[in-house]
Amino acid sequence: MRCAVSIDLDGIGCYYRIHGLGPPPAELDHAILERALPRAAALFARHGIHVTWFVVGRDIDKGVGGDGARRSANGARLGALAAAGDELGNHSYSHPYELARLTPGEIDREIAACDRVLRGLVPAVRGFRAPGYDVSPVMLDVLARLGYRYDSSVFPSPGYYAAKAAVMAMLAALRKPSGAVMTNPRLLAAPADPYRPSMTAPWKRGQAPLVELPIATTPWLRVHAIGTSLLIAPSWLRDRLVDAMAKREFWNLELHGIDFSDAAQDGIPGELVDRQPDLRIPIDDKLERMDQLLNQVTARWEVQTLGEIATATQRDA
Ligand SMILES: [Zn+2]
Repeated sequence: MRCAVSIDLDGIGCYYRIHGLGPPPAELDHAILERALPRAAALFARHGIHVTWFVVGRDIDKGVGGDGARRSANGARLGALAAAGDELGNHSYSHPYELARLTPGEIDREIAACDRVLRGLVPAVRGFRAPGYDVSPVMLDVLARLGYRYDSSVFPSPGYYAAKAAVMAMLAALRKPSGAVMTNPRLLAAPADPYRPSMTAPWKRGQAPLVELPIATTPWLRVHAIGTSLLIAPSWLRDRLVDAMAKREFWNLELHGIDFSDAAQDGIPGELVDRQPDLRIPIDDKLERMDQLLNQVTARWEVQTLGEIATATQRDA
């Protein structure tokens, strides 16, 4: 069995947008890359695994005014991880949750601009993950043109979809609209194991030159087996989810940078902690739980980067 661990490096500002909280305090702009990422990287190094980091291009673009030196240092940190065997993936330039609804020109600019920034650090970029798990045919066109080998955005979990809809409806009722955007429901019916998608309907099988690597859901009930839910679950439930994932050929285990944040140490305001239950867990507890999870994973799965999984899938699919 093969498992790939990936970390979406969404900045704190993304969570302010989802929860309708307005602009985040400026001092938190680099909190994920400067504080959370080194904790995550140290944990993976201890377990001897190589992972895929999905990077928001603007966060490491030294051309962005003001604090270019900090962006540049964060890019260098990611470049060093890639040089040691990790993979850097494209997570768009500015993480617009509505990416799938933008014009083809805007979609192209978002993906190409992140690609340009990443190519300053690594010779080639092979994979993409859409903000908010909403992949569209135009995105696949752009990825194919850039020569990407895979997309990893499809997340066919009805439970996650329902939870997102509930949060958005609640915020709308409070007149604090969420920055999140509802995912195309057709993606819920997509295959849950790696497949070659159709260029015109990414949720169906087809003849695209790249492969789709769906984010983990369990067999049968399609419960989402991703980092944030595994972190807050009691250990008996986590064990059940791990056992369920062992029934699949491939576990695409998705984490987020914020899973490695500590509200107190990193100065994250109470208004966000109130809305993100995982931020109420101190970092030492989260690292302990993550450590146990990775012990379970490395005991039973071979851990590879998504790029390596894509190469193997392209051979077979
Ligand atoms: Zn994201």
